[in-house]
Amino acid sequence: MQPIAETKRVRRIYGKGDAAVHALRDVTMQIPRGRLLVLKGRSGSGKTTLLNLLGGLDRPTEGEIFFEGNEIGRLSDGQRTELRRRNMGFIFQSFGLLPLMSAAENVEFGLRLAGVPKEQWKQRIQESLELVGLTKRASHRPFEMSGGEQQRCAIARAIAHRPSLVLADEPTAELDSRMGLTISRMFRDMVRQEGMTIVMTTHDPAIMEVADDVYALEDGEISRYEEETN
Ligand code: ADP
Ligand code: MG
Repeated sequence: MQPIAETKRVRRIYGKGDAAVHALRDVTMQIPRGRLLVLKGRSGSGKTTLLNLLGGLDRPTEGEIFFEGNEIGRLSDGQRTELRRRNMGFIFQSFGLLPLMSAAENVEFGLRLAGVPKEQWKQRIQESLELVGLTKRASHRPFEMSGGEQQRCAIARAIAHRPSLVLADEPTAELDSRMGLTISRMFRDMVRQEGMTIVMTTHDPAIMEVADDVYALEDGEISRYEEETN
């Protein structure tokens, strides 16, 4: 089966000359469908850079990135935006909810951007809030929710349009370890039950236990991470 996304010999260099930062060096990897893939690595190792490239938010300095077999570097900015909105979901460390909107309205906003027909909004909002256990918070605004509830709302927003690929950048970093584990188990269940593909970055070892695959980034180089067994 074709991987949902793929990078081939990707480099990303920020800046030029003496000030150049080699954030990614020759990264080649495949993201198989229907799995939860964790990218681990220290701060500064290139995790966010790689997620942004996979999500078409940034372009590589060298190399190619494929989404469902198409090289996304060949798309115009408008086409990449469209691809991102319709086929991908993004989750960030800081939740990124719109403060004046309720949980349901935040999810609705995502559906609108994704071009989902209006007739489907009500049902999609209900389903996705239910999936993250937030039905009772539908009319609450972000400041009326705990950190864990806000992140679950952000997850509902990211998945409501049924993206094939979800990219989550340290989604548990601002949560306590128990909520972090709850959220990551939720990701595992979404992969199992809804058939989504999720790529999540973290540096929390406890979170890695839910992963199907773990990759490690170190100084911009990637390797498949196999746990040592003695
Ligand atoms: P991580 O998410 O693993 O912490 P990043 O991908 O954010 O790592 O950063 C990788 C490296 O690239 C770091 O050395 C960082 O300082 C550098 N970097 C990231 N973004 C930029 C940028 N916009 N301009 C210059 N350097 C950057
Ligand atoms: Mg980062």
